[in-house]
Amino acid sequence: MHELAHQWFGNSVTPRKWKDIWLNEGMATYAEWLWEEEQGGRNTDEIFEDFYDGTDSESEGIWAFPPADPPRAARVSDPPVYGRGAMVMHKVREAVGDETFFDILRTWTRQHRHGNADTGQFIALCEGKSGKKLTKLFDVWLFNKKKPSRM
Ligand SMILES: [Zn+2]
Repeated sequence: MHELAHQWFGNSVTPRKWKDIWLNEGMATYAEWLWEEEQGGRNTDEIFEDFYDGTDSESEGIWAFPPADPPRAARVSDPPVYGRGAMVMHKVREAVGDETFFDILRTWTRQHRHGNADTGQFIALCEGKSGKKLTKLFDVWLFNKKKPSRM
């Protein structure tokens, strides 16, 4: 499922800079979560909690750095980019609702088809589609160095 999702998030829409790679890996990881729910496993809220609590086997090391700010090139494929990237997607979905969230994903892959895109453009699209200011959400879940407290 992860690699299938990369057809759109990573292959068709390519990151502008390496710091934008969370957009690919976060969404491909989130696709795994959506698929697990679809198959009757944990739902995405439960998977989010398992990542937050560290009980999911793939959550190890996710708090090492913010997903949109790997400290150096060698770390762009480290757990925060994947696990915390997926958590950002889940938080956006919670904030904007399912209809707007999936509209954002379809619009993103359509607007940037066979091109490059970056984090600022994704945030702008989320805010534009939802009509909500999402600065705090992205500050806390995407850019914050520390593990966010429960909100
Ligand atoms: Zn991947």
